[in-house]
Amino acid sequence: MLRGWGWKEGCAALADFFMPRRCIVCRVRLALRERHLCIGCLADLPETRFSGLSRNPMADRFNALIQRDLDLSDPQSRHEEYAFATALFYYRASTGYRKITQRLKYHADFAAGRFFSRKLGDRMASSSLYKGIDWVVPVPLHWSRRWSRGYNQADVIAKELAFRLGARLRTDVLCRPSRTRSQARLSVEEKVRNVSGAFRIRKRFLRKLRARTANQPNLPRRILLVDDVFTTGATLYSCFQALRTVFPVQVRIDVATLACVGQ
Ligand SMILES: [Zn+2]
Repeated sequence: MLRGWGWKEGCAALADFFMPRRCIVCRVRLALRERHLCIGCLADLPETRFSGLSRNPMADRFNALIQRDLDLSDPQSRHEEYAFATALFYYRASTGYRKITQRLKYHADFAAGRFFSRKLGDRMASSSLYKGIDWVVPVPLHWSRRWSRGYNQADVIAKELAFRLGARLRTDVLCRPSRTRSQARLSVEEKVRNVSGAFRIRKRFLRKLRARTANQPNLPRRILLVDDVFTTGATLYSCFQALRTVFPVQVRIDVATLACVGQ
């Protein structure tokens, strides 16, 4: 064993020798201290830096969906505050960075999922915009998809964000009773229509909410909705609508994802 190395480093070096770890993006062999990305790809990670910006293209896209529905109904009836939205990096189909979310979603790479979620959590925790988040709610999967995949990738991200933000992870609030078709080839309008009404408040949570007595004020003041990728915002908006059926506008609902399509 090399001088100055502990047994841990020795074991890691040995594991690397027999099962070389590779950069998720460029597939180059990783050095001992590199994790998930090589130093070059980590330096080039196309970060959005949205966590420090109350107005950004992702938040504008999400708030446009909220505003559109408010305008259709009585504009005086509900005053929605501008929702904050953030993502760690830009998702570009043409670059290898899309593989980060794919590793988590399709290959159960929880270590990578947690690694990048922690990065997003650090950005959010150091921003004044995300202070005082009470609950972190992941976008749920339909039970059949959850069963076939074995896990929900949004849960992995939400758990790390909840830990970093000192909030409670709540996977018991939302459910997805209907299975929607793939969003990939749909237009923005079709996507919104496709997932509209796809999410509901869980019946058991509703019962708990109704059983709450006046001297047990355990309602959150701020909720953070979490998903893996933000494309049009249609899925997160559908969750937002479901939450609004029980949480009044005084409860802020913001959104966060690992990646944001665009740029
Ligand atoms: Zn690389």
